[in-house]
Parts: sequence; C-alpha cells; structure tokens
Amino acid sequence: MLTIPPIPLHTLNDPELHAYGVQVLVKRDDLIHPQISGNKWRKLKYNLLQAQRQGYKTLLTFGGAYSNHILAVAAAGNLAGFRTIGIIRGEAHTPLNSTLQWATDHGMELHYTDRESYRHKNEPAFQQQLLEQYGDCYILPEGGSNAFAVQGCAEIIAELPAGYEYVATACGTGGTIAGLVAGLKGEKKALGFAALKGAQFLYDDVQALLHAYDTLPQAGSASQFTNWEIILDYHFGGYAKTKPELTNFVEGFIKRNTMLIEPVYTGKMFFGLYDLVRKGYFKRGETIVALHTGGLRNF
Ligand SMILES: *Cc1c(COP(=O)(O)O)cnc(C)c1O
Repeated sequence: MLTIPPIPLHTLNDPELHAYGVQVLVKRDDLIHPQISGNKWRKLKYNLLQAQRQGYKTLLTFGGAYSNHILAVAAAGNLAGFRTIGIIRGEAHTPLNSTLQWATDHGMELHYTDRESYRHKNEPAFQQQLLEQYGDCYILPEGGSNAFAVQGCAEIIAELPAGYEYVATACGTGGTIAGLVAGLKGEKKALGFAALKGAQFLYDDVQALLHAYDTLPQAGSASQFTNWEIILDYHFGGYAKTKPELTNFVEGFIKRNTMLIEPVYTGKMFFGLYDLVRKGYFKRGETIVALHTGGLRNF
C-alpha cells in the first residue's frame, strides 16, 4: 500500500570525520517521499495494512499544529483511500499554517482540542468519545508510534549492508529508535538523539513500544535488548527550539555535503553526532549509519 523505494546509503566525505578515523553513512530515508518524513511513512506502512485488514475506512490521529505525522497521515490516507481526521492540539487559527493547509488540501478533516483535553488523548474514555463523535475509526497515536510502527522501522536494519557498529536517529516519540532496536536483534548499538528537552521519559516509552512489538505474532523478545542509548544533550532548549550554533551547523552541513537537513530533528542528530565524534565517543575505524528521517518540507 505504501511502497518504499530502494534507499541509498550516502558516505559523508567530511575531512573532520576522517581526522577522527570515523565513517558516517547516511541512510537517505528523506528520499522516500518529497514532502513526508521517511520515518513517518515507515511507521504507517503496517498500520495501514492492519486498518485495511480490519475493514476500517477512516484513520484518526493526533498532533500539534506543525506535526510531520499529521502530514504523513493526510498523504498516506489520501493515497490509500482512507478518510482522515486530525485532532489538533490547541486552538484553530486562520489562516491555517502551511502544515495544516497542506493536510487539509490532502483531504484531512481537522478538529481542535484544548491543551488540557489533548493530554487525555491516549485514555480509553477520551477515545471512546471520539469514536462516538466521528464514527468507527482506526486510531493512530501521536507520532504514529505503536507496535506496527516498530515493525515498519525494523525493516530499515534489514536494508543495511554489514560493516557498521552504530545506527543513529533523531527521536521524538521514540517509535523510530524502537524499530531500529527491534531490527538490530541485540547486535551493534542504536543511538537516539532527543529533539525534546528533558526526554528521559523516552527510556520508558521506547521500552513500552518494544514490549508492544513483542506481542505481534512474528516478533521475538526485543524488549530484552539493552544495546541502545538516548542522547539527551542536544535539544537546544526544546522541541523546535534553536540556537545560532545549531543554525550555523545546519547551514555548514548543507553546504559541505550537498544534502538538506533541518534544525528540528536531523540537524540536532548530526550536530550531536559530530560533537560525540570530537569528544572521542567512537573509536577509530568505527562506522555509524545515520538515519536521515526527512522532515524537509518543500511546500
Ligand atoms: C517525527 C520525526 C522524528 C521522530 O520520530 P519518532 O519515531 O517519533 O522518534 C524524527 N525525524 C523526523 C524528520 C521526524 O519527522
């Protein structure tokens, strides 16, 4: 339903990395779709198959007014023939911002919820109320992160050739890194760079996602793996917050590598990765696969 083309690995030919004897390969999931974050596409793949198998006609999900996940659900639903409903945190603003306009243009119905109610979005009573309001829907959690999302992201590992020690990703809700951990099956190490401030909660959330994944029929015991770490120090003040240091890094990276990144997710990951290289986190001769999750909004 959601096809994923063959995704290349791009070697960063950066003298600074070479000086430390470290190789960084970029898995270009930003090439999965011109407007949708690649990891969101991967997280939706098995969810849409499940929704279709269970006969649902409508997808309902949650997000902030700038959510990449909202965009992905609108686009994927449009493509796969589902009606889509987005429950947006906060008040309606007119005109719509570019994210919400794009989602609307792709057929999503938007409904707004005050911040207090939004906090209850995962509770059964709140969701029951939504079903009564909007009819039978397949409910996707915020960020799309659930067991099926983990299954979709685990496939990234299966696409990688041997010969690396680490795989790195930016983290929001933790679904993507949970998939990498599941796919690694206890070998090598997954590094997640938190885009949010104070993201220690990710240790519990990723663990919960791995548990959920383990309940799927074909899954194993991913919740027992300990070869992963969340790097908490590169949030630059919080979600979507930035500092001149980060902005300068992102600009320089784009120029040196002729590859686009953005400051919300991938910029923080690459900044953190380079900083860890300089601090000697990696040994000479080691190879890191950095997942380019996308987030480039060319609209
Ligand atoms: C949503 C998003 C992430 C975070 O993914 P999680 O699975 O929520 O941790 C990372 N990068 C980009 C570009 C995203 O859009």
